[in-house]
Amino acid sequence: MANQRITIIPGDGIGPSIIESAVEILDKLDCGFEFDYAYAGLAAVEKFGHLLPQQTLDLIAQNKVVLKGPLTTPIGEGFTSINVTLRKHFKLFANLRPVISFKGTKSRYEQIDIITIRENTEGLYSGLGQKMAEDGSSAEATSLITRQAASNIVEFAYKLAKREGRKKITLIHKANILKSTSGLFLSVGREIAKRHPEITTEEMIVDNACMQLVMNPEKFDVIVTTNLFGDIISDLCAGLVGGLGMAPSANIGEDCAIFEAVHGSAPDIAGKNLANPTSVILASIQLLEHLGLTDKAAKLRAAVRDTIEKGDRTTRDLGGTAGTSEFTQAILERL
Ligand code: ATP
Ligand code: MG
Repeated sequence: MANQRITIIPGDGIGPSIIESAVEILDKLDCGFEFDYAYAGLAAVEKFGHLLPQQTLDLIAQNKVVLKGPLTTPIGEGFTSINVTLRKHFKLFANLRPVISFKGTKSRYEQIDIITIRENTEGLYSGLGQKMAEDGSSAEATSLITRQAASNIVEFAYKLAKREGRKKITLIHKANILKSTSGLFLSVGREIAKRHPEITTEEMIVDNACMQLVMNPEKFDVIVTTNLFGDIISDLCAGLVGGLGMAPSANIGEDCAIFEAVHGSAPDIAGKNLANPTSVILASIQLLEHLGLTDKAAKLRAAVRDTIEKGDRTTRDLGGTAGTSEFTQAILERL
């Protein structure tokens, strides 16, 4: 069988440095991957004069598996987020954001194991109905929820829960106020929950969910929610396990999958060898699992766990003094 080709998008800010760590590690794991580099975001503007060049779209479609650094979208009118564009273009409807406690991180909790499943294509990210009054006195945007997309994401959550032997799904919504949109999401969720009695289903209003996540995070297992709530909840969850440097994300579609960090390009620490590469390394573990390479995934997870627990060569956000490259080296030595 031909080697699996992986499209690598280094991205902007800290992207190239953390992606380099992840690629070195994947190389060391000897999975027989071949890497094709593609560019998007500011890096692509510099190289090709375009935020999302056609050859990048072609390489994603061709290889179907992508490891990607954070991308910067210029602020201002006329620029839709490139991340959002990619998710829509490749119909990456499910965004999986697992957080797991690692000993040795600066976290208030020890037993966290939560997966947030975020609907990735609609809600307030639909991009529809963007209007700004000419005098700047008002602005509006459309939040779209379709029965089909709600149903796809909730079904996806139950399938995943079963596959991973998880016990409970929390449907997070705001149907008391957003009666039409969040209301539709909740009613679709309830219909699907009835078909899966072996999994406990719980409903929670998003504001309460935020409080409960801080007070009793151990009570959560799998969360499924709409786009914007999923965005916010997943950063909250990252905070439960030591911060954004610990939070990976998989964007899954019928055809393609893009693995990345939850965080952005962190321009404040870019180019300083300070970034924690764990988020994209954990995203690489998701990638390995996606390709069925569960032994390699387990091996890498153990190496990351051990490096962070030992704590002698971790990055600043984890309480250490090492740079991105020393931390990466410490993981490589354990493989
Ligand atoms: P963007 O607009 O690309 O999202 P941002 O300014 O919002 O950029 P984020 O990347 O979202 O920045 O990061 C928020 C904060 O978390 C920053 O202070 C950043 O330094 C920190 N941070 C993010 N990722 C990491 C990481 N991998 N390692 C260490 N610190 C990080
Ligand atoms: Mg950000």
